[in-house]
Amino acid sequence: MLTQTHAKAKGLADLPPVVNDSLLSLIALCDADPRPEKIDVGVGVFRDDAGNTPILKVMKEAEQRLVDTQVTKAYLGSAGDKRFAELLRPVLLGHHAGDDRIAGLQTPGGCGALRLGFELIATANPQARVLVGTPTWPNHPPIIQAVGLGRIDYPYYERGQGAIRFEDMIAALRDAEPGNVALLHGCCHNPTGADLSEDQWREVVEAVVDRGLMPLIDIAYQGFGRGLDEDAFGVRLMLDACDEVVIAQSCDKNFSVYRDRVGSLFVKTGSVDATRTAMAHVYQRAREMWSMPPDHGAAAVHIILEDPELRARWLVELTAMRDRINAVRQRIAAADPRLAFIGRQFGMFSMLPLSKEQVLKLRQDEAIYMADSGRFNVVGLSDGQIDRFIAAVVGAMDD
Ligand code: PLP
Repeated sequence: MLTQTHAKAKGLADLPPVVNDSLLSLIALCDADPRPEKIDVGVGVFRDDAGNTPILKVMKEAEQRLVDTQVTKAYLGSAGDKRFAELLRPVLLGHHAGDDRIAGLQTPGGCGALRLGFELIATANPQARVLVGTPTWPNHPPIIQAVGLGRIDYPYYERGQGAIRFEDMIAALRDAEPGNVALLHGCCHNPTGADLSEDQWREVVEAVVDRGLMPLIDIAYQGFGRGLDEDAFGVRLMLDACDEVVIAQSCDKNFSVYRDRVGSLFVKTGSVDATRTAMAHVYQRAREMWSMPPDHGAAAVHIILEDPELRARWLVELTAMRDRINAVRQRIAAADPRLAFIGRQFGMFSMLPLSKEQVLKLRQDEAIYMADSGRFNVVGLSDGQIDRFIAAVVGAMDD
């Protein structure tokens, strides 16, 4: 019989417990609630007026074309579908689309783009610390931690006022060391819905340039706020002013292909040569992590963007999603002056002025599921649920 003579090495049984992602736990809790009237405003997907997250009609058609015409599923390489990234350039970069100091590649969603962008920055400057306005999307801090970069948090949002703490933000950026990373939400801030105005973007860009910071812009909801070009204002302004910019982009929301994992990373440096070297690192990191991104969703987006007729139909469906988001916002905002700020914000999320206890009480008494922070998805609501939701929230605020 074999006996173990050496000291027992640590095994899988020694792993510490993990605190679950709070939003994923919330989905499970809501799924388990048998009450038919339950309202799920926790999940971060677009829903139509009937409460469904349908596949876009134009996407169905593109997928059909893909099935009919694709002749091989041979490997594409770490860059994924190169034409997909090219077609995205005018959509995201606008007048910078032709700048050959900017290079991009397909990634597995916005998450993959963020991870890869931070990996690149950490490779270039492991001492860099990332300036994060709080609250932020809960997956930002773990991604930053996973690449080994430090973090400096600053307060971004004043909950009671529904307003950005802009002076604090600028002070934090102006206090930062050169080379530190300014993580910025391109549009439709998650979780607050509080976006920088154009003037505020100008000040942020000025601070980034003055302090020699590295901007990383996360843009996961382009087209969900004011429009495709309007939502890319900050990205393009940053590119106007800076030699080095990293942009993590997602098509998962604006093409409604969440589970297909469609995104891209764009990197700008001061020269074509430096960009080529940076991209060689990017491909290497991608190769280590996922080798190459999944093809299907990006291939379908590629078909849509390449065909003028499909592209026009996508814009119509995207506009309908945006219009619904903004219409529900206006309806909630009009219900009570304390909710008026929701009408001035953008994207799917806002934070209600509720304590954690009030949020839990709404969950228990009304079967309304939102994040403990009070973040809710405005289009988590079907049209038929809006009035009951407003009444319950106003009731909770009055308590
Ligand atoms: N960034 C923000 C702010 C997000 O809210 C999300 C998704 O919720 C992402 C990035 C990642 O998107 P994806 O699903 O494409 O990975």
